[in-house]
Amino acid sequence: MSNEWIDPKRRELLEWLCDPGRRLGIDRAVAAYTAAKEGALGRLPEMEEMRKEVRKIKEGSISRMDELVRQTVDSIADVKGTPYLARDAAEARRIFCSIVGTGKLVVKSKSLTSEEIHLNSALEDAGNVVYETDLGEFIIQLRKEKPTHIINPSVHVPREDVARTFSKLLGRDVESDIPSLVGVARAFLRDKFCNADVGITGANVVSAKTGTLFIIENEGNARFVSNAPPVHIAITGIEKLVPTLSDAFKVVQTLPPYASGVLISAYVSLVTGPSKTADIEKTIVYGAHGPKELHVVLLDNGRTEMAKDPILREALYCLRCGGCLYECPVYRVVGGSFGDNYFGGIGLVWSAFTGDECAVAVAIDACTKCGRCKEVCPLEIDVPKMVEHLKSNLASRGYVSKKHAEMSENIMRKGNPFGIYERRQ
Ligand code: SF4
Repeated sequence: MSNEWIDPKRRELLEWLCDPGRRLGIDRAVAAYTAAKEGALGRLPEMEEMRKEVRKIKEGSISRMDELVRQTVDSIADVKGTPYLARDAAEARRIFCSIVGTGKLVVKSKSLTSEEIHLNSALEDAGNVVYETDLGEFIIQLRKEKPTHIINPSVHVPREDVARTFSKLLGRDVESDIPSLVGVARAFLRDKFCNADVGITGANVVSAKTGTLFIIENEGNARFVSNAPPVHIAITGIEKLVPTLSDAFKVVQTLPPYASGVLISAYVSLVTGPSKTADIEKTIVYGAHGPKELHVVLLDNGRTEMAKDPILREALYCLRCGGCLYECPVYRVVGGSFGDNYFGGIGLVWSAFTGDECAVAVAIDACTKCGRCKEVCPLEIDVPKMVEHLKSNLASRGYVSKKHAEMSENIMRKGNPFGIYERRQ
């Protein structure tokens, strides 16, 4: 195999290494996150038991993922939603484009699963206008960049750069104090929610028995997005399905302290079917104050394959709290270039199945296997073990750099990686 696959990713890694501005944003975020998480966990001693329960829920759910998909499809249909199962990213994009059509105003709340399928560009190519409404995603969209953290997409953008981006948007100088910046986004996006034709959200967890989507957030934008437009489309990976409402609530309790250092997120929205009323003569009419239509796209895109690997399947337990990224010494230096469409050690595994395998094969060499990610993970996911396994899978498929091939040859022939001494007989 030629070594051409190395260069684009190596350039991206070097760009991050040479950019102190991006590291400044990450350093500030790490300091704030660490203090908040320690404070929250100090007030939640019950979390030690809860996170173990959640691990068991995820193990059980992934071992019967097919069955939960079938059950969820039936449950969503029962409550008059429209379920879809997308085998891959292309199929998911086709489903979205056929529901949205063309000439529509679309508002979105944060969904890394939608980033995974490159949804925005597909909708824009089909002639729609798309607004990200999560503040971090909005910043990234305006800067024409890609997210660099699982839950903090613009973590690498310091406040001074956000001010420059917003100044360009508004055509006037915007102060770089953070509350003013938040105010700019609030004012700009306000009317978009009510004028939108379609709202798109993700879902953090789904109860298969009832077809209920759980959407966890702090900003309040996902509530607008899932409620104000007449059509709501949700996309979620099939690894997010759990058997019951009670299982889903346990995930909801576990995620916020590890994701944002809070006891519970400001908003948890439960969506079970489209809006409806039976207030006049007990006759059900769909589309009262909320959306008239609810479409739910369940995305496979490599997850079934991942579940077949006895070691890499553990990545499907990931709650996407993002805590391991803040603790990762490599992520803190090379940020969003450490992975492809997902980041950090866990992101390498996810990207190998859902993104660019070549990019993963280069970035994986940056992992130090320090094991910090496993220590801080609420579910004790063994990321270093998965990275090691993935690396050997990639090498067996020919992803070995010229330098590594030379070193390996030197070890075989001369007993050292430098090729200096002849091997003693
Ligand atoms: S691997 Fe663990 S710590 Fe990292 S994002 Fe997933 S759940 Fe959070």
